[in-house]
Amino acid sequence: MSSLHTSCIFCKIIKGEIPSFKLFETKTAYSFLDIQPTTEGHALIIPKHHGARLHNIPDEYLADILPITKKLAALFEVDHDQDNLEGVGYNVLQNNGRIAHQEVDHVHFHFIPKRNDTTGLG
Ligand code: 5GP
Ligand code: ZN
Repeated sequence: MSSLHTSCIFCKIIKGEIPSFKLFETKTAYSFLDIQPTTEGHALIIPKHHGARLHNIPDEYLADILPITKKLAALFEVDHDQDNLEGVGYNVLQNNGRIAHQEVDHVHFHFIPKRNDTTGLG
């Protein structure tokens, strides 16, 4: 795929050159478990297009990201609608730039399940 870079760790994951625990995959996006999870089920969703910041990514490579996020919420059973009843929820985070705590320069969305037995801001 020409939109991927040979030296990028997440491009290598998309190509299968670096192993990952795959959760969902479409033609334009890929989701896998974070190697250093903030909570159990911490996943990443990435476009199959190399770009460091969100504004670098063509819209067609972003179209599947939120639908996959919804699938992750169902997979990890944190998609309950009743606030405070089930004690579960999730964060969706996306960092751009070092000042915003971005470490890997291939756009990625964090999906971080939260349960009442987990702590931290994630
Ligand atoms: P950032 O701080 O850039 O928003 O987050 C980068 C995330 O990528 C971190 O949560 C980190 O644990 C994760 N990560 C970095 N390298 C790898 C890797 O090789 N495999 C996986 N599965 N996750 C990675
Ligand atoms: Zn990349």
